[in-house]
Amino acid sequence: MSAQPRMPIESGVPDAFQYMHPALRRNYGQWAWHDRPRPGVLHHVAETGEEVWTVRAGTQRQMDVYTIRKLCDIADQHAEGYVRFTNRSNIEFIVSSAGKVDPLIAVLEEAGFPVGGTGNSVSMISHTQGFLHCDIPATDASGVVKSLMDELYEEYINERMPNRVRITTSCCQINCGGQGDIAINIQHTKPPRINHDLVGNICERPSVVARCPVAAIRPAMVNGKPSLEVDERKCMCCGACYPPCPPMQINDPENSKLAIWVGGKNSNARTKPTLHKLVAAGLPNNPPRWPEVGAVVKKILKVYQEDARDWERMGEWVERIGWSRFFELTELPFTRYHIDNWRGARQTLNSSTHIRF
Ligand code: SF4
Ligand code: SF4
Repeated sequence: MSAQPRMPIESGVPDAFQYMHPALRRNYGQWAWHDRPRPGVLHHVAETGEEVWTVRAGTQRQMDVYTIRKLCDIADQHAEGYVRFTNRSNIEFIVSSAGKVDPLIAVLEEAGFPVGGTGNSVSMISHTQGFLHCDIPATDASGVVKSLMDELYEEYINERMPNRVRITTSCCQINCGGQGDIAINIQHTKPPRINHDLVGNICERPSVVARCPVAAIRPAMVNGKPSLEVDERKCMCCGACYPPCPPMQINDPENSKLAIWVGGKNSNARTKPTLHKLVAAGLPNNPPRWPEVGAVVKKILKVYQEDARDWERMGEWVERIGWSRFFELTELPFTRYHIDNWRGARQTLNSSTHIRF
């Protein structure tokens, strides 16, 4: 008897249709038009004439089981038992009659979940995992988001920005943060400190050497043990060596700062997607409220709100007025660290798989 091939065990994302509101399932891909009756509410009308209302509320993303139960109870009692999360951790409840919208909003607000985040508002901030799930963060991510959204509450529940504003945060300098109108990212300012006693036991030295984008790491013998050394004149403090080699500690309460970047977007509506650019560096990583970061973000939002034309995304606005005018209006200091044209990157960045010593 021939051996039976082992069948794969499905462990990916489950089929989303089984969790969808029946009206969404029935009309999938057949929507005629939609509008927004008020901030936080989307109204969709299908080609068949069937209608649904989606009520969007903000959450703190990292939720305990009691909060999740509370949200599920609200869905069962005041919506129709269906919820979904957006990738910015907004929760959406779907109902099939207009009469259910106002009572649902009242219950959500009573329970402390603000309704908004649609259209030209500052929607929830998309953020990375922080200390809860990742082994390399230099700051918390959900904490920065919570403290900032507390201050931007009015901009979440209203739609009074020139266009939508998407903010992102990233708790290290190299990995999972995304492009945003405003991005708040960790910025290391000192090269890694190496614990030579541990390197030989923990790190695969050739992989760590290959990981450095500017070829600043070399193998070395220290106190008779195999270790690594960093050429600090080349090191640009990116932190890429730290994940594969934890003894190359780069996180530091004083020297790991926060930086703010402006003008990125993923959408290709009207203009192409853009990369955000550095506008403020060296802000203190100051939990639990990160007030210095909050002040800069609020200043940028205020100037954008006052100066941009209707429907200009933040990057499009800066592109029109020019970066020098942006720094004038926001009163942020412009330094040589902001000049970033990447000419010469081909010579200085490690863009091949070769290991260089
Ligand atoms: S941004 Fe970096 S530190 Fe934060 S969760 Fe992603 S990989 Fe981890
Ligand atoms: S990987 Fe980054 S932090 Fe590590 S030595 Fe190279 S440039 Fe410096």
